[in-house]
Amino acid sequence: PVYFGVALAASAAADPDKIAVIDGDTRLDWAEFYIRVSRVAAQLAARGYGRGDMIAALSENSADYLTLYCGVLLSGACMVPLPQSAALPALQKMRADCGATLLFTSAAQREVADQLAADVVIDLADLMTWAGDAPINAPADVAADDLFDMIYSSGTTGTPKGIAHDHRFRARQLNRMPLFGLNDTAVAMMSTPLYSNTTLVAVLPVLAAGGTVVSMPKFDAGQFLELSQTHKVSHAMLVPVQYMRLMGHPDFDRYDLRAYRAKMSTSAPLPGPLIERILNRWPGELYEIYGMTEGGVSTVLNCRAHPDKLDTVGTPAEGCDVRIIDEAGNELPPTQYGEIVGRSGSMMPGYYNAPDKTDEVLWRDANGFDYIRTGDMGRFDEDGFLHLLDRRKDMIISGGFNIYATDLEHVLRAHPAVADVAVIAVPSEAWGETPLGLVVLKSGATDNAEDICAWANEQLGKTQRLSAVVLRDDLPRSEIGKVLKRELRAEYGSKG
Ligand code: ATP
Ligand code: MG
Repeated sequence: PVYFGVALAASAAADPDKIAVIDGDTRLDWAEFYIRVSRVAAQLAARGYGRGDMIAALSENSADYLTLYCGVLLSGACMVPLPQSAALPALQKMRADCGATLLFTSAAQREVADQLAADVVIDLADLMTWAGDAPINAPADVAADDLFDMIYSSGTTGTPKGIAHDHRFRARQLNRMPLFGLNDTAVAMMSTPLYSNTTLVAVLPVLAAGGTVVSMPKFDAGQFLELSQTHKVSHAMLVPVQYMRLMGHPDFDRYDLRAYRAKMSTSAPLPGPLIERILNRWPGELYEIYGMTEGGVSTVLNCRAHPDKLDTVGTPAEGCDVRIIDEAGNELPPTQYGEIVGRSGSMMPGYYNAPDKTDEVLWRDANGFDYIRTGDMGRFDEDGFLHLLDRRKDMIISGGFNIYATDLEHVLRAHPAVADVAVIAVPSEAWGETPLGLVVLKSGATDNAEDICAWANEQLGKTQRLSAVVLRDDLPRSEIGKVLKRELRAEYGSKG
């Protein structure tokens, strides 16, 4: 595999005048970007940081943050991008868990950063002053199993877990570049936060290929469209809630988006009707990707090429072996519903500081190979496309029947007045649990909850029926746009 630092150096050498990073009025060409990156790496090395050391950061996206990320990698140390969306106690735990003594922060995050008990806190606005002007000559030598970065999982289902990625993991990801057309001519939006793996799987390959990254500090649909047009953006990795905002933007069709070659979506379900709107109005390919920060599993759906498979997450990516298992851990025929497990060249070495959690998440096949348990339920259809159902924790067990919230959400979403929906389990004396539909109406719609519930139940099987529908103004979502069902369950009286 080609290591990231080596690829970055090659990018800079190949076309020094090409723009590497755009951030507001800042434009760094590859020569300037690489010299900054190597100065950061040199300063880290001079202070004794290198292989085996963790360097943390807490910041919104910026050119300086990207410079730091790459500088840390070039020095051989491990980057830990902390999620600004997390609450202070969670951030304090993460900082202590990773053991980073050096913390970089933006001005906006300074107050929080100062409370994380790092030895040294440096403002990213001062990064280049701190770095000085002595660049290193070459990226530090790294081994395949040296840590590259550590990402805390989204915490959708519980406490975030530290997921370490080694250089082998990221190097294998770079091999996927050709699939999405991420080459040296790519201009990619960085419009999800850098602390999320969703962002990194797109941005790192673009940099490794010598393309251009356009940084957005905070997602805003209008600004996204404006930047896309101005910079002739060719690629974007977005999450479904961002697609929802973009397709709902009143001026969407006024922007010239013809430079787009491909868009990716991941991290939460992308509903079929939304996919159709995107395909009709936004040039270029659309890929839905299913995967997790832990690695192991990765499936891809080319939406334009498979209009009859929009309710699936596609087929396993090359080199990725996906199986289905039952509760007891026995392998099932792939067309039966069960838990999805996967194995590939890109697998995390383990949860950081939590060997017991690592053991729990592994499944071993008859030949002794380890697979990562996704905690997601699904099955393959006859054509080998993966149908995703709920997370195991979101499944509703009612009167002994398994009800998949996704099935019910699919029906509710088709109602003409429904803008957004989540179905959760609520306690029921008669059935143990029963499904409750939480619905956000389209603006201007005046339908009432009972009618929508009756309408949906007419189309559902007897054992699947909703106990009720409740109208809400919105659904709680993580910053990356995942519906937080555990919060909804707590609100409506379930234990979680
Ligand atoms: P935590 O593990 O802390 O609860 P998380 O699982 O949300 O958080 P991530 O690794 O960011 O953290 O997300 C992986 C999960 O996201 C998958 O297990 C799956 O449930 C969901 N997911 C990813 N891609 C898709 C997709 N294309 N469609 C539907 N769900 C997806
Ligand atoms: Mg997870």
